[in-house]
Amino acid sequence: MRRYDHFIGGASCVPSSGKLIDRFSPATGALVAVFAAGNARDVDTAVLAARTAFDEGPWSRLSGIDRSRLLRAFAELMLANLGRLAQIESDEVGKPIRYARKDIEGGAKVVHYAAGLAADLHGIAYPSLRPGQTGLVMREPAGVVGAIIPWNFPAFVFCHKVPFALAAGCTVVVKPSEFTSGTALELARLALEAGIPPGVVNVVTGYGAEAGDALVSHPGVDMVSFTGSTATGRKVMQAAIATTKRVSLELGGKGANIVFADADIDDALDGTLFGVFHNSGQVCSAGTRLIIDEAIADGFLARLKQAIGGIRIGDPADEATDMGSLIHAPALDRVRAYVDGSAAEGVVTYAGGHRLSGGLYDKGSFFAPTILDRVTPFVRAHREEIFGPVLTVTRFRSTEEAVALANDTSYGLANALWSRDLDKVMGVSAALRSGVVWVNTTLDGSPQMPFGGRQQSGFGREFGRAGLEEFTEIKSIFLSTGRRAPEFYGRTP
Ligand code: NAD
Repeated sequence: MRRYDHFIGGASCVPSSGKLIDRFSPATGALVAVFAAGNARDVDTAVLAARTAFDEGPWSRLSGIDRSRLLRAFAELMLANLGRLAQIESDEVGKPIRYARKDIEGGAKVVHYAAGLAADLHGIAYPSLRPGQTGLVMREPAGVVGAIIPWNFPAFVFCHKVPFALAAGCTVVVKPSEFTSGTALELARLALEAGIPPGVVNVVTGYGAEAGDALVSHPGVDMVSFTGSTATGRKVMQAAIATTKRVSLELGGKGANIVFADADIDDALDGTLFGVFHNSGQVCSAGTRLIIDEAIADGFLARLKQAIGGIRIGDPADEATDMGSLIHAPALDRVRAYVDGSAAEGVVTYAGGHRLSGGLYDKGSFFAPTILDRVTPFVRAHREEIFGPVLTVTRFRSTEEAVALANDTSYGLANALWSRDLDKVMGVSAALRSGVVWVNTTLDGSPQMPFGGRQQSGFGREFGRAGLEEFTEIKSIFLSTGRRAPEFYGRTP
């Protein structure tokens, strides 16, 4: 069991309320961590530390090359601590240790990429706006950033935000999920160890309604970068109004996974399976709606059902485990309610559809990989984010119908499509209303490629140069030399 306080100004900081949060493993039921339950006073202390570090430097005034060097040292320390970080992530999330390691490795790669950007932050110059006048479009750090993080990929989502904010010269106060705060606290410590000055990365743990809301509302915070559910995203927008704060929102999704008859069917099968069941289906960009050509649907589903039998579900600590538990018991109840509700709406439960039981399963929150067939667009399970291992299946007869079905959602994060016809691939990719389109692949990502949503999946982008620019403000400087503008009235006496 690990016991953590907040991490503020480069040191541990006990919660002012003295209240604590117990985190039990969602897979085994064992107590794995105790976190501080932060309140508005703790947030105030952290914002002051970040504010001072930003306003007085040195971080915000360091050269890009120096920021880059320190970020690279941070990435290397992440890799040096890979085993421990992955263990914490696996314990708190209930995710297989194999994938927890990949998350940390992936996060370190992102930090390396952001380090490169730190040395390459630049604006635009217009050498002659008029004779004797130069225009400088500057990119300046946004200031103090509040970074709010969900529980499904705690360390990885930390790396979506913090290294880019740091590369831009910002300082941050991170509010991780109350269920999975361990890696954010460990990463903040490693950033300090790498030489990133105290006060640049602060972590306040606690509940969203208390610590999270206090962070969003705080007048000392210049912008909020939020990842979480659409429902909470709305609250964050609302809370930011009073201080007219900038927000970027990475919210929920309901991704389509479109399989055309001309696809490489083996690839499409593997992709469909991974796309919906990875991390027990707790992925914002999961391909939870299988939209498939009617001509191949029955054969495809039969093979999918067979493949589900090969998924090893169980102890996250076991190297062989493919799928761990859900995040907590309420998530299990929520998933079960969607599946049971679908049956009442005339949907066929083609595979799974129940809680797993017996042995270890009785101690944790394990749900069987589930396929719901004959799902019409009116069924709740097809429209709402379930955030569990549930695939809905809808058949189409034409490419137009496939696109219409995929776009019939209030979300717009990521969609995948499987086809070997280049014309079709380009046409469908252009027609899909989402921030990301995967062609013959799924749940793919690279630090260079911007990630983010449209519609109720939010706005703003992470990764890529766009991910750096999110954390900057633009300043236009009109630099005049020589003659004054002809519109001036004359020389003042
Ligand atoms: P959540 O919205 O319940 O919580 C997210 C974070 O917000 C947590 O740290 C929580 O404590 C905090 N929070 C809660 N109420 C708050 C409030 N009133 N003010 C400020 N902060 C508050 O989401 P979750 O259950 O942790 O994560 C799952 C959700 O996250 C899913 O909807 C998923 O799709 C989404 N998600 C999106 C992305 C993306 O990049 N678009 C990535 C991962 C997860």
